[in-house]
Amino acid sequence: MDKKLCEYRFDELLNKHTSFKIGGCARIFVRPKSIEALICTLERFQYAKILAKGTNVLAPDEGVDIVINTLGLNKYQIKNDLIISEAGVLLSTLCKKAADHGLSGLEFAYGIPGTIGGAVYMNAGAYDGEICDIVEYVEIYDRKNIIKLDKSQMNFSYRSSILKETDWVVLRVALRLKPSNSQAVRDRMEQIMRKRIQTQPLDLPSAGSVFKRPRKDFYVGKAIEQIGLKGLRVGDAQISTKHAGFIVNLGNARASDVKELIKIIQQEVYKNYGIHLEPEVEIW
Ligand SMILES: Cc1cc2nc3c(=O)[nH]c(=O)nc-3n(C[C@H](O)[C@H](O)[C@H](O)COP(=O)(O)OP(=O)(O)OC[C@H]3O[C@@H](n4cnc5c(N)ncnc54)[C@H](O)[C@@H]3O)c2cc1C
Repeated sequence: MDKKLCEYRFDELLNKHTSFKIGGCARIFVRPKSIEALICTLERFQYAKILAKGTNVLAPDEGVDIVINTLGLNKYQIKNDLIISEAGVLLSTLCKKAADHGLSGLEFAYGIPGTIGGAVYMNAGAYDGEICDIVEYVEIYDRKNIIKLDKSQMNFSYRSSILKETDWVVLRVALRLKPSNSQAVRDRMEQIMRKRIQTQPLDLPSAGSVFKRPRKDFYVGKAIEQIGLKGLRVGDAQISTKHAGFIVNLGNARASDVKELIKIIQQEVYKNYGIHLEPEVEIW
């Protein structure tokens, strides 16, 4: 493989590549710079972990063997009301471009700090929107072929997609938006960002909401707060004092601290509400 098509790093600390700022070394860390290079890398390293922006991952303290990072897949185009984007493009970039083109539908994702590939993997959502609402098709690599799947073939559900049950890798995503007015789209994005700043601990490293909502009417953060766990610490991992649905890293938190805190929350919530909380964060 031509070195220009892939960037290689060795013994690369994953805490530099995760929003939690947690994780030991990846023995090999590869960043392919094109879809062709990604496919060659996937063929060479079949058991590698896929990492995008690392905003929904808890990487282990002991590190991992091989990581393939998708941030080099950063091209996108806009054709009328369709955005066709490579997997490594940030949602924030796509949101701003959609607004520039007067396209509505992606506003809900403004402030979700990940990539479009990561968003499709877990059907990211916020403020009454989900990525599946606007997906037209997804191009995946099933480890043999490139396949174009339409929305109905993606098995999207709350914070889930077919990608969670397979080893497929998202290459490109097409989003169908609606023509609108640029200023109206920007206003909605800013309103959403203000809400996030008001309610979320954005000044500290985290991976967003730790748990999935078990039912539509069950608010995880509120429930954790009501049983008095807000602010609880294990090492430098803390249940956020601003939003109890988040765990934040106060400085030197380890993955083992976060996992311990997750276990305590799950036990206490089960004891008090009879509900099992399932992590939304991907625990590697
Ligand atoms: C402050 C904060 C706020 C957040 N708010 C929200 C929110 O409102 N709503 C929400 O849904 N999420 C939220 N998140 C979580 C996170 O940003 C989203 O889940 C995002 O979609 C993850 O994208 P990523 O690029 O960081 O993926 P990563 O964290 O790098 O990866 C997540 C998973 O996706 C897989 N993956 C990534 N790219 C691909 C690919 N191309 N092909 C196959 N698998 C892939 C990875 O292997 C991993 O298992 C928040 C996180 C933070 C830190």
